[in-house]
Amino acid sequence: MKRAVISSMEIRKKYETCPLCGSGKIRESLVGDCRDHPLYRPEIPPTMQWMDCGVCHHQFVDGYFSDDALKLIFSKTNENQKVGYQLEKQRIISARIIEKVIPYKASGIWLDLGFGNGSLLFTAQEYGFDAIGVDLREDNVDVMKKLGFEAYCDLVQDLDFSKNLSVVSMMDVLEHIPYPKTVLDSLFSKMEKDGCLIISMPNTENIIWKQLTLQKSNPYLGEIEHYHNFSRTRLFSLLEECGFKPMKYGISERYRVCMEIVAVKQ
Ligand SMILES: [Zn+2]
Repeated sequence: MKRAVISSMEIRKKYETCPLCGSGKIRESLVGDCRDHPLYRPEIPPTMQWMDCGVCHHQFVDGYFSDDALKLIFSKTNENQKVGYQLEKQRIISARIIEKVIPYKASGIWLDLGFGNGSLLFTAQEYGFDAIGVDLREDNVDVMKKLGFEAYCDLVQDLDFSKNLSVVSMMDVLEHIPYPKTVLDSLFSKMEKDGCLIISMPNTENIIWKQLTLQKSNPYLGEIEHYHNFSRTRLFSLLEECGFKPMKYGISERYRVCMEIVAVKQ
């Protein structure tokens, strides 16, 4: 009985058009295997079909998870996504992220979207920012609130902040969002002019990504929580479409093959 309920559950909502540019000229591309992913559940299809947009050349998975499927996936949390994970080691990585932002914004409200282990919030506060966190994992939000932080378990589009945001960080978050433009547009309306955005995610435009793909060992093709494989080029053009000027390219120390971009609200 229970099995029947699960098998009739809608897992992925298919994209009919490119989630970035809206073009219908999309075609099947690479296939990834997600069976070995720590968050994999047998109810979820074991493969991920990636799609290529013929117009803006973005790569995305063929569908994003339904609310029911997300509940299944979120019932497990990776150790490194839990508040307090490797506090001292993560503080050093977080400090390097903050120091990339400081030349553009040195004070004000810092919103960390998808704060995960909380390290960036703790460290931003230590640097003198008013740190606010948003995360979709309720346990994490409860822990942060108990520690005295302003924290929300909501979509950022549905939140109102009392003051304009000076800094927004999205470390390995945008590629988890079904329609990234919706979130960037919403952030644009909540940020102060010259506000600073720092974003990290895997970059498909480098030799390591290409090598891993050729060797059929690219871990991101089976990364269950990702909907997008951004190139540096497509991320930069998306930011510009949403009113943010990319200022600085760098690589991320958090995960393999990742880029870290600083952009400023125009
Ligand atoms: Zn497109």
